Amino acid sequence: MTHPPMVRAEAVTKRYGPIEVLTGIDLVVAPGEVACLLGPSGSGKSTFLRCINHLERIDGGQLWVDGELVGYRRSGDRLHELKAREVARRRRDIGMVFQRFNLFPHLTALGNVIEAPIRVLGTAREAARVEALRLLERVGLAEKANAYPGQLSGGQQQRVAIARALAMHPKLMLFDEPTSALDPELVGDVLDVMKGLATDGMTMIVVTHEMGFAREVADSVAFLDGGVVVEAGPPAEVLGNPRHDRTRAFLDKVL
Ligand code: ADP
Ligand code: MG
Repeated sequence: MTHPPMVRAEAVTKRYGPIEVLTGIDLVVAPGEVACLLGPSGSGKSTFLRCINHLERIDGGQLWVDGELVGYRRSGDRLHELKAREVARRRRDIGMVFQRFNLFPHLTALGNVIEAPIRVLGTAREAARVEALRLLERVGLAEKANAYPGQLSGGQQQRVAIARALAMHPKLMLFDEPTSALDPELVGDVLDVMKGLATDGMTMIVVTHEMGFAREVADSVAFLDGGVVVEAGPPAEVLGNPRHDRTRAFLDKVL
């Protein structure tokens, strides 16, 4: 049996009050794939990531993560709504990195990384520490383990945030404009860490305006506008030879 897609969205809709923000998202992301989501502000990229991560409930269509319908548990032929604990358990498998790093300011880099494994997974403190140091090394910050967020640059904080997400052993990582709040000279280090994750086989959905990253690292690129995927495919096609006027107009602006 082949592995199910890591994410499958079919005609996913989402409303805020009367306004339909996602108007029918179709997208498939295979295990090990890096998918970049592009699109103008307000096109629904963040909302879609929040739906995948159980932070928003969809209003229509179907959304699966790793073969499981988001928000529901199947038993026999019947679907049951997930209870809060089950949602929390599924959310542990999904790492999310935001534009703003949201580190705990009163904890060191190491403290930030070990917090969830100890509290949520029940990992022994020493084991969590050993793993956290390994992760901080992986993001190039071994020597900053004892620094507080306020002593770190934005790029370093974002790399700690990535290490913190990885400490939960996610099967899927969601990135929502992870470099948009950074000074330009700090962007490269964060993208390099993400590139490393991609090389190691992590499944990633990355909302970004970094076209170089999309072209070089992504297996697929999806262009969203008005709450739908207007066009998706290999980066060389979508970025190099867009078929839709809306994609072309967007790329003309960002490239
Ligand atoms: P993007 O990330 O592509 O910029 P978003 O997903 O953040 O787009 O937003 C899509 C649309 O949904 C926007 O029009 C935004 O104003 C609206 N929106 C997002 N979150 C909410 C919310 N919590 N309540 C009402 N409207 C929202
Ligand atoms: Mg957004």
